[in-house]
Amino acid sequence: MSAREKIAFLNGLLEGLNPGGEAERKIYTGIVEALNALADEIDDHAEVLEEQQEFLEDLSEYCEQLEEDMSSLEGEYGDIDDYMDDEPGETFDSRECPECGHVFFYKTEALNEDGSLQCPECGFVIQD
Ligand SMILES: [Zn+2]
Repeated sequence: MSAREKIAFLNGLLEGLNPGGEAERKIYTGIVEALNALADEIDDHAEVLEEQQEFLEDLSEYCEQLEEDMSSLEGEYGDIDDYMDDEPGETFDSRECPECGHVFFYKTEALNEDGSLQCPECGFVIQD
């Protein structure tokens, strides 16, 4: 039996049994009315809660969609962070390490001052 059904049952009892005198009836009727008002307020809160729940679900769905879009973008273009640090106009070169044969890309302006380059694979310093 829900709270509202219990209140209705109580109200039915009150009308059926017609207890006591005038004063007692007033008190009982007042209690039933107060309980009804409480039930109304609880219903209102439940409605607000449900709306917020729906809003949260929408928001969470939207975030998931964003995450999916993000990872499919990263799949197509590589890690997005790689683009963030890049200044426009940077150029890359590729080099094969004579020591280990590892082929790697490097920024031309990231060369050491003497023009040497360190292999990221084996650490060998390639002199030009
Ligand atoms: Zn190497």
